[in-house]
Amino acid sequence: MTNQPIGGNELARFSGPGTFMRLPAAETAQGLDVAIIGVPMDHGTSWRSGTRFGPKELRSQSAMIRPYNIQTGAAPFDSLNCADLGDVAINTFNLSATIDIISDYYDEVLKHDVVPMTLGGDHTLTLPILRAIAKKHGPVGLVHVDAHADVSDSMFGEREVHGTVFRRAYEEGLLDPSRVWQVGLRGTGYSAEDFDDPLEWGFKMILAQEIWHKSLAPLAAEIRKEIGEGPVYMSYDIDSLDPAYAPGTGTPEIGGLTTPQAMELIRGLRGLDIVGCDLVEVSPPYDTTGNTALTGANLMFEMLSILPGVTYR
Ligand code: MN
Ligand code: MN
Repeated sequence: MTNQPIGGNELARFSGPGTFMRLPAAETAQGLDVAIIGVPMDHGTSWRSGTRFGPKELRSQSAMIRPYNIQTGAAPFDSLNCADLGDVAINTFNLSATIDIISDYYDEVLKHDVVPMTLGGDHTLTLPILRAIAKKHGPVGLVHVDAHADVSDSMFGEREVHGTVFRRAYEEGLLDPSRVWQVGLRGTGYSAEDFDDPLEWGFKMILAQEIWHKSLAPLAAEIRKEIGEGPVYMSYDIDSLDPAYAPGTGTPEIGGLTTPQAMELIRGLRGLDIVGCDLVEVSPPYDTTGNTALTGANLMFEMLSILPGVTYR
């Protein structure tokens, strides 16, 4: 019998444990197929802070999510044993120490045969996670949904912050660059050459304006086909959505994805060998209605629903 979330008819949804979807808490990843992990940090952000409160609020908003995905038929808890490992004990006064703490933590988690699903936290956290993921799986494919490519070389001279993650990951050989897709890119840049390097590395970059007013099902099918077999990491920056849908984030950019587009994209990637994923950059202090965290929590459930081994009814 796999772990089940507490049902809404067993205990009122506004009560009970503060775990993701009110799943059981666990101390280690032993015996799990999926480990939910919070990384409450915001010292890698360049503009508005607040993502340190992201994991707690994503878990809070997840309490209303029911276990069966009516629209897709996914019943993830029928076959996958899931639990919430709580938060990584980051050092809120030291970013570089935090990066090492995160990679050590994921090294430990990945000693087990488990898919880590991370609640952020600012996007910096994806770099140490990818270090641990690549140590286990080798260079991975990547689906990175974001308003920003996060490929700067440095910010204020710092090389490991939320805007440099995917350049470092490329340089360190953590990614298979021919299987990297970045979707939703937009906003203002520093120069006309901002995207030259990643395109040269082999990244596929999909600008938001290319997918305005369109279903993302065809794009998802193309990504799925092009990435093909082999391990893939999925990194979902909530600022990929338009600020109309997800205002509670640190670096909002107008002209982004709609919520249905975000769902179509994830659903269309079913079949990929996803070995880990994250949902980052939810900043509750800027999320006055809770809608951003609600959307983020549901997108996590959508990602859970496409993991390898999920039962479809
Ligand atoms: Mn980002
Ligand atoms: Mn972003």
